[in-house]
Amino acid sequence: MRLILLGPPGAGKGTQASAIVEKYNIPHISTGDIFRENIKKGTELGEKAKEYMDKGLLVPDELVISIVEDRLQQEDCKNGFLLDGFPRTLNQGEALDEVLSKMGLNLNRVVNLDVGKEILIERAIGRRICKDCGEVFHIKFNPSKKEGVCDNCGGKLYQRDDDTVETVEKRIEVYHKQTEPLIDYYNKKGLILNVDGSKDKNLLFEEIVKALSE
Ligand code: AMP
Repeated sequence: MRLILLGPPGAGKGTQASAIVEKYNIPHISTGDIFRENIKKGTELGEKAKEYMDKGLLVPDELVISIVEDRLQQEDCKNGFLLDGFPRTLNQGEALDEVLSKMGLNLNRVVNLDVGKEILIERAIGRRICKDCGEVFHIKFNPSKKEGVCDNCGGKLYQRDDDTVETVEKRIEVYHKQTEPLIDYYNKKGLILNVDGSKDKNLLFEEIVKALSE
């Protein structure tokens, strides 16, 4: 299964991604996670990416595309993959098509999570993530049993630097301008699966799995 998850920041891409990759046994490729790992390790890539991420802007295409190209060549992508947060521009979408066509592969589906702006902001600023296993919680909608501690592994929960109201608003604006045109791009290819991202996460997951099996 070769999938893309599209949707604005706070739409629940990370939450659905965890469930989807477990179900289909495919790797979860999140360009945002790759950048955050690089920031944590203090690499040159991380340093460059952080400048843009802190402002809610997109990291330049040339930094992103080669990372994804390398990642897709790895052994664990043989059975498929789930791309989360990539592509984010038409240019990235076209580059991905080229990479896949060189590899003789095509995409199965592009799942588009649609959510209204107020919900997005509330979801993003209440989001807490486990620093060890990456599990996503929300202080109001999906709280961990013990505050600040991951239910899965006991790791410490943290808030992303870019999950502030100002940055989230900027990221939503960037999404409308630069990423939304991809919906039309994939719609023309007959790949889009539109789903309502404001639904309960379990019901939404069931709906996605059902649609992917058709
Ligand atoms: P995410 O975790 O997907 O919300 O990404 C967090 C931030 O990383 C974004 O706001 C961008 O600054 C950067 N980023 C992640 N993926 C991409 C991408 N495909 N293209 C450009 N910037 C990206």
